[in-house]
Amino acid sequence: MTERRPPYSKRVSRPSGARDRGPLSVMLALLVLVVVVFAVTLSLALAAGGHPVKRLAQAPIRHSHVPRPRIYRAGSEPLPPPPHPRLASRETFCPILMFHYIRINPVPSDILGLHLSVTPAEFNAEMRFLRNNNYQAVTISQLADHIRYGTALPAKCVALTFDDGYEDQYTAALPTLLRYGLRGTFFIVSGFANQPRYMTWKQIRTADQDGMEIGVHTIHHLDLTTLTPWQDWQEIHHSKIVIEQHVGHPVYSFAYPSGRYNQLVLNDVGKSGYLAAVSTDPGTLHSQRSLNYLFRVRILNSDTPQTMDWYLNTRFGNPFGPAPQLVSPTGG
Ligand SMILES: [Zn+2]
Repeated sequence: MTERRPPYSKRVSRPSGARDRGPLSVMLALLVLVVVVFAVTLSLALAAGGHPVKRLAQAPIRHSHVPRPRIYRAGSEPLPPPPHPRLASRETFCPILMFHYIRINPVPSDILGLHLSVTPAEFNAEMRFLRNNNYQAVTISQLADHIRYGTALPAKCVALTFDDGYEDQYTAALPTLLRYGLRGTFFIVSGFANQPRYMTWKQIRTADQDGMEIGVHTIHHLDLTTLTPWQDWQEIHHSKIVIEQHVGHPVYSFAYPSGRYNQLVLNDVGKSGYLAAVSTDPGTLHSQRSLNYLFRVRILNSDTPQTMDWYLNTRFGNPFGPAPQLVSPTGG
């Protein structure tokens, strides 16, 4: 009598039986073989330079005591990647405060000079206010990275900028920033460095190595809307290369002298490898649309920690609006 065998699907569950283990063993062996072949192929691909796994770029940790490479070919840096279109409609709130002199105004009749002079004692009080209220100061490049590529920003964000490269920014502002653990961005006029009342190149390099950002404020601090296209290109692009030669690495931020720019100037800035440029147009909100004329808040002699507190908590300025052609007539 012929034994009636159950279907195959039921037989595999039987506890024993050499005749049934045959096909199963073959399948297991084939599976092991496929896994081994895949692993060998993957390791060969990695050894040949393949990149199956993308790693997140890590920002280098900078230490002022580590000397930079001695040779850097200024101007050799490729243009930064374009801003990510997915972030184009995003609005960023981070007030950029604008300082000029940190001094006691030496000439009382110089009204503009008085307005632009924050005394060292007042500056100390303002920076202490930021530290005590848990603000974290980012550089303009860090802010630009956030707007362009979505890198993280601190919850209580502020950016501190210093225009023109005056010597008192080195002697009075820098020690105070370091005391409170704050980073600033210093916009240097390359033709003024080493001149009386301005920082020397050595001081600029020291500020750079102390963790400050060095930005570009042209060669001669001229109104860029009054120059020929060739002069504009020199002031915007050549000044960047000169400053890069002195600090030994690329620089990424630009500030318009007296805050003045027009479409030609904006185009030159876009072609020169900057991540962002700051204007003197008032505002605390930013977007990719306003990357090349980021709004700032001017801190004057009359400001106090209380007025600063108001700026730091007020959202204003239209970062999606058209670029204004005319700007503040006061110094920048
Ligand atoms: Zn200026």
